[in-house]
Amino acid sequence: MAKYTPMIQQYLTIKQDYQDAFLFFRLGDFYEMFFEDAKLASKILEITLTGRDGGTDDRIPMCGIPYHSADTYISKLIDQGYKVAICEQVEDPKAAKGVVKREVVRVITPGTLMEGKVIDSKGNNYIGSVIEIDGRIGLSVSDITTGEFYATDSFEEIDDLMNELNQYQPTELVIEKNTFENYKSSFNQIDTTVTVIEEDSFYSEKNYYQIIKDQFSDLDLKSLSRVLMISSGQLLSYLHKTQQKKLEHFNQLQLYDSKKFMTLDQFSKRNLELIQTSRDQNKKGSLLWLLDQTETAMGSRLLRRWLEKPLLSINAIEERLAIVEELFNDSLLAADLSDQLSQIYDIERLISKVTYGNATPRDLYNLRKSLERVPDIYQLINESKTSYIKKLVSKIDLCQDIAALIEQSIQDDPPISSKDGGVIKRGYDKKLDSYYLASTEGKEWLQNLERRERELTGIKSLKVGFNKVFGYYIEVTKSNLSQVPGDRYIRKQTLANSERYITEELKAKEAIILEAEEKMLDLEYKIFTTIREKIATQNKRLQSLAHDLAMIDVLLSFAKISSKYGYVKPNINQEGKLQIEEGRHPVIEAVQNGQPFIPNDTFLDQEYDQILLITGPNMAGKSTYMRQVALIVIMAQIGCFVPAKMANIGITDRIFTRIGAGDDLTSGQSTFMVEMLETKQAITQATSNSLILLDEIGRGTSTYDGMALAQAIIQYIHDHVKAKTLFSTHYHELTSITNDFPRMKNIHVSVIEKDGKVIFLHKIKEGKADKSYGIHVAELAGMPHEVVESAKKILKELESKNIINNTDNIQKKVQGFSDDIAQGNLQLELFNNSSSTKQNLEDSEEKLYKKIANE
Ligand code: ADP
Repeated sequence: MAKYTPMIQQYLTIKQDYQDAFLFFRLGDFYEMFFEDAKLASKILEITLTGRDGGTDDRIPMCGIPYHSADTYISKLIDQGYKVAICEQVEDPKAAKGVVKREVVRVITPGTLMEGKVIDSKGNNYIGSVIEIDGRIGLSVSDITTGEFYATDSFEEIDDLMNELNQYQPTELVIEKNTFENYKSSFNQIDTTVTVIEEDSFYSEKNYYQIIKDQFSDLDLKSLSRVLMISSGQLLSYLHKTQQKKLEHFNQLQLYDSKKFMTLDQFSKRNLELIQTSRDQNKKGSLLWLLDQTETAMGSRLLRRWLEKPLLSINAIEERLAIVEELFNDSLLAADLSDQLSQIYDIERLISKVTYGNATPRDLYNLRKSLERVPDIYQLINESKTSYIKKLVSKIDLCQDIAALIEQSIQDDPPISSKDGGVIKRGYDKKLDSYYLASTEGKEWLQNLERRERELTGIKSLKVGFNKVFGYYIEVTKSNLSQVPGDRYIRKQTLANSERYITEELKAKEAIILEAEEKMLDLEYKIFTTIREKIATQNKRLQSLAHDLAMIDVLLSFAKISSKYGYVKPNINQEGKLQIEEGRHPVIEAVQNGQPFIPNDTFLDQEYDQILLITGPNMAGKSTYMRQVALIVIMAQIGCFVPAKMANIGITDRIFTRIGAGDDLTSGQSTFMVEMLETKQAITQATSNSLILLDEIGRGTSTYDGMALAQAIIQYIHDHVKAKTLFSTHYHELTSITNDFPRMKNIHVSVIEKDGKVIFLHKIKEGKADKSYGIHVAELAGMPHEVVESAKKILKELESKNIINNTDNIQKKVQGFSDDIAQGNLQLELFNNSSSTKQNLEDSEEKLYKKIANE
């Protein structure tokens, strides 16, 4: 160390504390990076890598960026998941003895960004914190841009935590060291920036207790389990360390029990395309996209949270449905409310910026404009014939005092910058007004001066002007120089076509005007920040108003979409009955471009109609039908009307899906393995109140294997799990097993054959499909004629040899499997291990074969 120059020594000392971040080291007008930071940053940011003498023989690698354009470079690094520590000079270089004192003033990380293009206005930017102790897991999550802070510890295993994290999709995760080591492979699968926390004097349980107490004064600390104390404390500590600021907009730690909501694991969310499509991960085409008719960004974010967490409480669902119904029935009110809401800015984020001290005058103006809409919204509702929605708004705090404060003090349409004047209204502050007066009087005086000098000198083109270097001046063009009064005018600057002068009188006045302006700007800024701080103290009220508005916005969105597509209000029951008349798939229906969507009925319950075995050719609409049932259940449980003629929805605690598309090929697992993993999750975790959708299980392996597994799984669900299940299959042989399973029924998607061609009717009918139409579908796809004909011939031969229909043997073997699964003996354990490779899979397949062969 000693060999380095003092400045580089200072750099290295600071860098020690910020090993995981790029250290932006302020040197004059630049942020410089050194050593490895410089090498890497120069590559990522495409800037020149240079060197600097640092006291050693070799030059130290260095690269730098101008401080005024740092934002672009910082976002580029953050976008890629890096962190940036901003190290400023914290004393005046002129006053410094030796090396100027420097300190890190803020660490910018993906999960703590306030603004920038990474922040999606309609999405959240969550940062999570995790700890596991003796099997108990604590998760805390916050969004610094909105002030939300959630915590939950209702996890039974690490998979539950992963599902929950999948809902938040945090851009950053803070994980306690041992927890990270123990579950490394799981955490590594999440696309996020991970910070591992090692206990030290700062990150310690003792400090956590105090930090939580200070932050959430209303919270009863006894309600926090130890893991939640640590996950929350760890998160708050990390935020304090990176932000170096108080987090005044974090008002409430919202404890929740994840079991109080419907569980949707990541497979189901993907398969059902709730948030994004599985093919190209686009929002467009997802259920969220369809339902999102919200007017505000706050509403859009809340809708997403609701969709990730459908409710289980009948009362809570009915409360939402009742409001949607009122808005659905009063389209005029709905239209008026939409109109008002569309003029409201993102109050949630504005208030975070206010408390954070980086709200601009324009932000305050936008806050005022938004708040001014609130009384109208209140009035519209109060004058309507509604009752539920009236109840909802009756407790709303209109926050008009805050709107009035901004209205009195901040100019209309103010500039973005708070330091260049033009921000504060006249009449708000006496002192400011006096400076303003001095400055305007000064300007008038200048105009008079111009007029007077023109008369005195006879130079018509004489002008009084101003520039930052020379101040006020009198400008005379070259052709008029002979008329300049040499005794009074002092030459200041020569230009190509003119000369600029000052006079004693002008100089004296200039001092007065400039002083007034300087004082005016200083005072304006001071008044502005005082107003901002004053509003910041009201952040709790504003947050609660923002939440209420978001809620109205989402319910309104439900009403609008329901009326657009003719949805109906579902009835909700506790008896586990699922009855849908003329149900439709909401998204397919909406994107079908005029083509009619064929509605279908569904009836499932726990006593007689627990499992529906769906047969029918490819492309008939089996998976669409299965998905539509799940989507209708989810829509009902978030409080939205549903695409059907009538729906009676039994509260569903979990939905599991195993549906063809969207296999995770990137994780290196075979399709069949993914299929087994998802199926395992379904049949081991489902309860009798769950809904399971299994599409073509067993397709990925040999026929016997596949059929045996399919039947064993059905039997297991029938006998042990008792969850309502839709099971589609192309193994027609399976349809005969319904005779042995009393709670199982065959249904099929009907097709007709006309002139040797298949026509899909997309209509669900009772009973099994009589024929597989695979070859017809191949023909439809434009398969060469020769292949089609040849396939038909082979099929005939096979049928005559009775290979395909020989199901009796399988039937018996399957019974054995099913018992094995029930007893937990079957090799499904093997599938449990997500790092299993193909080899593993082949081994297990071989064992299955042997088992069949032996019996
Ligand atoms: P399968 O799972 O039987 O192979 P899909 O569910 O994938 O079939 O449906 C095949 C196609 O038929 C889809 O493109 C879908 O748009 C269309 N389709 C499915 N069900 C219906 C329906 N009820 N009404 C209209 N079109 C439908």
